[in-house]
Amino acid sequence: MARKFFVGGNFKMNGSRASIKKIVEDLNDADLPSDVEIVIAPPALYIHCAKELLKNPEVKVAAQNAFPKPSGAYTGEIAAPQIKDAGADWVILGHSERRTINKESDEFVAEKTAHALENGLGVILCIGELLEERDTGMTLVVCNRQLDAVIDKVKDWSNIVIAYEPVWAIGTGLAATPDDAQSTHAEIRQYLAEKLGEDQASKIRILYGGSVNGKNAKSFNACPDIDGYLVGGASLKPEFIDIIKSRE
Ligand code: PGA
Repeated sequence: MARKFFVGGNFKMNGSRASIKKIVEDLNDADLPSDVEIVIAPPALYIHCAKELLKNPEVKVAAQNAFPKPSGAYTGEIAAPQIKDAGADWVILGHSERRTINKESDEFVAEKTAHALENGLGVILCIGELLEERDTGMTLVVCNRQLDAVIDKVKDWSNIVIAYEPVWAIGTGLAATPDDAQSTHAEIRQYLAEKLGEDQASKIRILYGGSVNGKNAKSFNACPDIDGYLVGGASLKPEFIDIIKSRE
């Protein structure tokens, strides 16, 4: 079964009611391809309004984080059932900004992943190495370690999309080369096959993330293990639509 191409837009802590309305209206007006799964992740405050404004039911909404409890005394956190209630179907977990700035451990990311899945959310699970890890040949050691924590807790990966995001490529304008990204994606898939079996591994979508833009997206078109993109900065701009259409 072919893996459906997937493009996610991670707005991070950017936007306002007015600017997010504009992005959604641009998506509403665009002639979007039906063979691409499109997910936008505005800040949690704007999930509900983005969902209400979207006219194309094929464009889904994601949260950027979820706490691994259904409710309770966790000031400032949001729960998976609340994310669903606000109209989102997905959540981004394990983003490097949360792993680094918020000191989220592999185990905590895995706990959140299991909890989000149990509550009916799809998970965009971010993994990736720091520059010094890449420079010391540790890319796969790091990615496999981040995956192992989730593999320990989750056996059914059908609602997980992996986003391989080398940290040195995020927000830097220095995207990985198609050859480098393809070879890391292939190795990640090979590792998943060893751990989860060939069948599951062949169905899991592995997105590339890190300085994808309207110009370079097409350069990855020939990479068989790149199943889409997780886009940060460019998802706030009109070129997001060029990225969605980059396979045409
Ligand atoms: P970028 O961010 O596209 O701005 O590099 C990607 C991400 O952090 O998901």
